[in-house]
Amino acid sequence: MTFADLHLHSRFSDGTYGPDEVVFHARRQQLAALSLTDHDTIEGCAPTAAACAGAGIEFIPGTELTAEQDGDEVHILGYCIDTGDHKLLAEISKFQAVRQDRIREIVSRLNRLGVPLTAEAVFTMANCRAPGRPHVARALVKAGLCSTLDDAFARFLKKDRPAWVPKFKMSAAEAIGLIHRADGLAILAHPGLNRTDDVIPAVVDAGLDGIECFHSKHSPSDTARYMEAAGFYRLLITGGSDCHGSSKGRPLIGTVKLPYFYVEQLKAKAARRQGQAPVPPPVSTLS
Ligand code: AMP
Ligand code: FE
Ligand code: FE
Ligand code: ZN
Repeated sequence: MTFADLHLHSRFSDGTYGPDEVVFHARRQQLAALSLTDHDTIEGCAPTAAACAGAGIEFIPGTELTAEQDGDEVHILGYCIDTGDHKLLAEISKFQAVRQDRIREIVSRLNRLGVPLTAEAVFTMANCRAPGRPHVARALVKAGLCSTLDDAFARFLKKDRPAWVPKFKMSAAEAIGLIHRADGLAILAHPGLNRTDDVIPAVVDAGLDGIECFHSKHSPSDTARYMEAAGFYRLLITGGSDCHGSSKGRPLIGTVKLPYFYVEQLKAKAARRQGQAPVPPPVSTLS
């Protein structure tokens, strides 16, 4: 049986691996296909596609958009997207500017609390266009102002802690619309992690194509419940580890192995949307 991991982060958002390292680990796990799903960016897709081509691994272009539904944060994965779509790129760059402003606001809250961190230290640490709280946490640890990433989140950065700043989010319907406009498919990421079962019907109404049923933070009963929901709503099933590299201890890549059958279903639906015959995987992944 061949397997895929359709939820991976890199240095282009809050992961620690560059494209070559993502692909190195994917190869070690004998994955036939992978998708890079960095938060609010698609910058890493081209270099990761090139690294995959060199390793005989099939690459699915992806992203993970931050959105909201009925006041709850939801993450919408976009797969098989056209990474050259101008509207998608323009909207993404707006969300990146929002993320950068939010870093400045988090830092000024930290400064008011007497924590002498600079926004520049965070931007240097992030070295990407979509900085987030994990980069603030890493900068705090590097400067010796917090002992661990968990310490930084627990003391300052978690929701309702003193340096927490809410993030402007598009609606789930807008995120799904953007992904569709870029010829992609929209999947609800890790509903078990965000505890967002209640929003599933509304997100389905907004045009959702699938649910991420397999995820490193889903229990077997979560997975069973979301598989049932996917069947009920006739949605695609996807899965991935949500590996962020080595920032949170052992890398998660390889802990969720999505049977390749589900990738075929995903590609078949994307091809139907795009009015094309489905693209077969590279020959080397079939051996
Ligand atoms: P942001 O997009 O800036 O709100 O940051 C969200 C990211 O922070 C998530 O994708 C996780 O990768 C990370 N994160 C959230 N909570 C924690 C935590 N307690 N410890 C470490 N990382 C966390
Ligand atoms: Fe993340
Ligand atoms: Fe997520
Ligand atoms: Zn993720």
